[in-house]
Amino acid sequence: MSRVYDRVALIGLGLIAGSMSLAIRRAGLAAEVTGYARSAETRATAREIGLCDRICDTAAEAAADADLVVLCVPIGAMGPVAEEIAPHLKPGATVSDVGSVKKAVVEAVAPHLPQGVHFIPAHPLAGTEHSGPRAGFAELFDNRFCLLVPDADTDTDALERLRALWRGMGATVEDMDAEHHDLVLAVTSHAPHLIAYTMVGVADDLRRVTDSEVIRYSAAGFRDFTRIAASDPTMWRDVFLNNKEATLEILGRFTEELFALQRAIRTGDGDLLFDYFTRTRAIRRGII
Ligand code: NAD
Repeated sequence: MSRVYDRVALIGLGLIAGSMSLAIRRAGLAAEVTGYARSAETRATAREIGLCDRICDTAAEAAADADLVVLCVPIGAMGPVAEEIAPHLKPGATVSDVGSVKKAVVEAVAPHLPQGVHFIPAHPLAGTEHSGPRAGFAELFDNRFCLLVPDADTDTDALERLRALWRGMGATVEDMDAEHHDLVLAVTSHAPHLIAYTMVGVADDLRRVTDSEVIRYSAAGFRDFTRIAASDPTMWRDVFLNNKEATLEILGRFTEELFALQRAIRTGDGDLLFDYFTRTRAIRRGII
């Protein structure tokens, strides 16, 4: 694989940045990967495990001279970090991000960036319930989608290079409009996380009645379904605060469906339940 950038800077050194650094270095996509995280402890861990070629003590130092700066922090930190690095960006550099919400990130980041710097938001559809600098692995993006959010003014060369980077990290790259992205992800990722968190809350509530049985005897269904409820609370708080409209729309539809099934159970409407499960099973089986 050939080199795409001389220097890539990763701001925020958790699961996604760690995986990017390992994937970039695996394929030789950059001459140097620099990294910065706000917490001194995270920087120390990143140094200890050799997560990047160089760990810097300020975001400005990591971003200076970088051809590509990728913001890998929680959504709520994107704007402040963009503001902090803006004066240090080199002309012609590209700034991107990996945030799970796109419209709010565009609105928070774009106003801070100077003329002559390209901004191309991105979202790799890959992750685990683990977080922090030790959670990353080079294969995270293999055969996963990475959605890029260019607009009509996006520089085509800068876009091609970012596409090449994500392809080099193993991803399949597609473009999507920010608002559409947020609605699609509300269905496929954001609402399921909220429902999983809720189910664990319900089990915990019930535990007070049944002692420790709910957790002790938790069946495969509960375990599979709630795995994502072990995800990072800061990240998910920020996702919901920044994708309000779409998640509220999807949760409204979800509760309508849930109430319909609740009514079918109460009234003994087996046909409705059977037809519903037959239809949704066929859809689910179509998803690999
Ligand atoms: P993480 O919790 O593993 O890492 C976040 C890192 O950001 C931590 O190292 C933290 O110290 C650092 N950080 C927090 N605030 C900061 C600040 N103000 N300045 C500098 N560093 C700061 O999180 P992650 O899973 O790598 O997620 C990072 C981003 O990627 C989020 O925006 C998230 O929406 C997005 N994302 C996550 C997943 C997933 O499944 N985890 C998938 C796709 C995209």
